[in-house]
Amino acid sequence: MDFPPLREELRGLQPYGAPQLDVPVQLNVNENPYGPSPAVVADIATAVAEAAGVLNRYPDREFTELRSALAAYLSRDTPHGISPAQVWAANGSNEVMLQLLQAFGGPGRCALSFAPTYSMYPEYARDTMTDWVQGRREDDFSLDLDAARALVEERRPSVVLLPSPNNPTGTALPPEAVSALCEAVGDEGVLVVDEAYGEFRRTGTPSALELLPQHRNLVVSRTMSKAFALAGARLGYLAASPEICDAIRVVRLPYHLSAVTQAVALAALRHAPELLGRVDDLRAERDATVAWLRERGHTVADSDANFALFGTFPDRHAVWQGLLARGVLIREVGPEGWLRVSIGTAEEMTAFKQALVEVMEEAGR
Ligand SMILES: *Cc1c(COP(=O)(O)O)cnc(C)c1O
Repeated sequence: MDFPPLREELRGLQPYGAPQLDVPVQLNVNENPYGPSPAVVADIATAVAEAAGVLNRYPDREFTELRSALAAYLSRDTPHGISPAQVWAANGSNEVMLQLLQAFGGPGRCALSFAPTYSMYPEYARDTMTDWVQGRREDDFSLDLDAARALVEERRPSVVLLPSPNNPTGTALPPEAVSALCEAVGDEGVLVVDEAYGEFRRTGTPSALELLPQHRNLVVSRTMSKAFALAGARLGYLAASPEICDAIRVVRLPYHLSAVTQAVALAALRHAPELLGRVDDLRAERDATVAWLRERGHTVADSDANFALFGTFPDRHAVWQGLLARGVLIREVGPEGWLRVSIGTAEEMTAFKQALVEVMEEAGR
């Protein structure tokens, strides 16, 4: 008998995670490169000090104030508005999604996504003993709607996970696709549009939040980790029908959102305009990076997110390694031959471009 007595299917597995390396240019986990200003830092510190004065007490289990603040924030992205009863939050949208699988997945049920997709999804399925079904995206990373609908009808998933903009490709889903798949899933399942990168979408790309009144099985997940520049605080959230939010309450741990987390998130939301202030710069930098990569002869997936997937390289690991040797950390992820670079500051992107030119020249010699 092996020790420790790990579940059979977990034996020998490595924990998920990109390398955390201390290099000058970190463009590997899609963080916002701009930290908070001293004024925002001071406000967060004051909020934490206030919370610290009553840390002998459990926090508000229903995070009422935070729910209202998140609902107000989301309401800017839909003409229908979002009420606090439609909001749920947890420690990162990774926890939100695990809770969705705990509530709606489980033995005898399956979760479905379309590859290439976020690599954590199969892990939530595995951890909740939910079967994992993976369809495919087209060569341009779009979704063949007829094939997707057919797969839903064949497998009857209780959870469908659709990142939009997709990670690692950056591809946004058209609202017609979301609606058609919500209808195909029906009352037997929930369809999660993971909008972790929603704030970076290009002008004219609507948020799936607009579709909530039409589909009671639709869940739109968001995070403060990316555009909101708050990855360190661990706050993810979703908008869905109140019935879905209520169902998740059954599986959440008691007091899962600490008083400190709630205070930090609330303080950050008060400064939303500043924290999101660089999103337009990052979108412009993204478009410039995509254009530059194409000029250099690379293939680049259209991106509505704060990263670009580019390729294809016969030996992508060598390119990744060459960049790392020059102090630039990107991500070896996605289909074979592709690499993903997060959008950083203008200086960081210059360093990335210089390093890539050198690596390609070296490879050509
Ligand atoms: C980064 C990311 C998240 C966010 O994770 P957090 O737990 O909120 O930090 C969720 N979904 C996708 C597809 C992501 O890339």
